[in-house]
Amino acid sequence: MAKALVTECPECNTKYFKKDIENKELKEFCECGNLEVTNEKVANSKYKYNLRIGYARTRPKIYEIDTEERA
Ligand SMILES: [Zn+2]
Repeated sequence: MAKALVTECPECNTKYFKKDIENKELKEFCECGNLEVTNEKVANSKYKYNLRIGYARTRPKIYEIDTEERA
């Protein structure tokens, strides 16, 4: 069994799985606008990203869950 890292907004319960938000450029808000997930390419690096999760009101819950999927 593998572990999946989840970031969840406590206000609207939107969940972001790490595997879904890493390794691609991204800038989005959760449904209620509390969380802002940004993943930007690092300059001069082909494969590196800088993942940041900010919040406006309530700190996100970050936890691991068991998953049947391969990591
Ligand atoms: Zn939210």
